[in-house]
Amino acid sequence: MEDLKNLSVDSLVVHAGIGKYENHPVIPPIYQVSTFSFESANHGASLFAGREKGYIYSRMGNPTVEALEKNVAALEGGYAGLACGSGMAAIHTALATLLKSGDHIVCADAVYGPTCTLVESILSQMGVESTIVDTSDLEAVEKAMRPNTKVVYLESPGNPTLVITDIAAVSKIAHAHGAEVVIDNTFMSPILQQPFKLGADVIVHSLTKFLNGHADVVGGMIVVKREEQCYEFRKMLNHLGGVLPPFESFLVHRGIKTLSLRMKRHCESAMKVAQYLESHSAVEWVRYPWLDSHPQQEIAKKQMSGGGAVVSFSLKGGLEAGKRMMNCVRLCGLAVSLGGVESLIQHPAGMTHASMGPEARKRANITDGLVRISVGVEDVDDIIADLDQALACTTSDCGSPAKVGVG
Ligand SMILES: *Cc1c(COP(=O)(O)O)cnc(C)c1O
Repeated sequence: MEDLKNLSVDSLVVHAGIGKYENHPVIPPIYQVSTFSFESANHGASLFAGREKGYIYSRMGNPTVEALEKNVAALEGGYAGLACGSGMAAIHTALATLLKSGDHIVCADAVYGPTCTLVESILSQMGVESTIVDTSDLEAVEKAMRPNTKVVYLESPGNPTLVITDIAAVSKIAHAHGAEVVIDNTFMSPILQQPFKLGADVIVHSLTKFLNGHADVVGGMIVVKREEQCYEFRKMLNHLGGVLPPFESFLVHRGIKTLSLRMKRHCESAMKVAQYLESHSAVEWVRYPWLDSHPQQEIAKKQMSGGGAVVSFSLKGGLEAGKRMMNCVRLCGLAVSLGGVESLIQHPAGMTHASMGPEARKRANITDGLVRISVGVEDVDDIIADLDQALACTTSDCGSPAKVGVG
């Protein structure tokens, strides 16, 4: 596929990034190699000097990995992608590229738990100052900016509270202060939200979630918007070394081919699950960006084209009732992660966001009773029936149920 410019994202998922390979396979073969031989000593030297294009060593570049990088960059409308060994490796590499000792980062309070730990207790050891704010509050963002602020870090919808940040408005504030906007677009995928169009400068993804979608790979991606950003990010990734291997790249690229199909189904089903939960008498509150009850529904509808797969809720019986419910699900898996074909349910305060500590959770409105469900692509009636029988469990003693092989 030569010219991708006029293709819609539904076609790009299938065609973007695929190059030309020996024997003309229709998909990129798995180049399961660590190193590539040179035609001559001069050829090797000229590859190292950048005078000629070609592969040297798989930490520095590999055709299978490059195909995936080009695919995700095309989906996001960016200049280049950099595949990383995990979402956290992508976030670390991106922030290490943009920040040095003495710089300051403004970071959203409702972010993936380990991101908060990375900013507050690891980057701080390296001399990077941070201010954690509710980025849905534009005044708070403006107030947090300092002369040495180099990065404003966003996640929208935020994990797991689904708070929405106005990406275009925050980008304006950041740029007025000479800072760049880095956004974690994992929850939306490029199908539902395109942050470069809203002003963001760098996008990070956990490929582990929607992009791969099949719970068999841990991976990450950095996407840069402009050509001139590319060199520093590539140099940092090459020297920190957290790259994605070829086989994982192959699997993620395979998963992405159905991304837009999957996202449509996730959105339809999650909305039905959110409405079901909102109507249930045992449920205290539900958060889902497409629900009328979501306080920032208007901004959500302006910058996203679907609500996503993740629904958060709390039961009237609080944490204990939530735990009983999680112990009773049969179809939904009791596991962390999200964005896969299978529905998963988990408890952020005790699991994904435990490492943040109670203070940081309180600051981000992550209550002890909050339960997060990632709605998969199973028949939505089956998912709702499972939640219904599990909710019935919270009000009666159903004993210790046996899982039906999908736990
Ligand atoms: C899972 C996740 C991450 C971390 O990704 P890994 O691949 O597990 O390292 C980062 N951000 C968000 C929003 C996530 O859901």
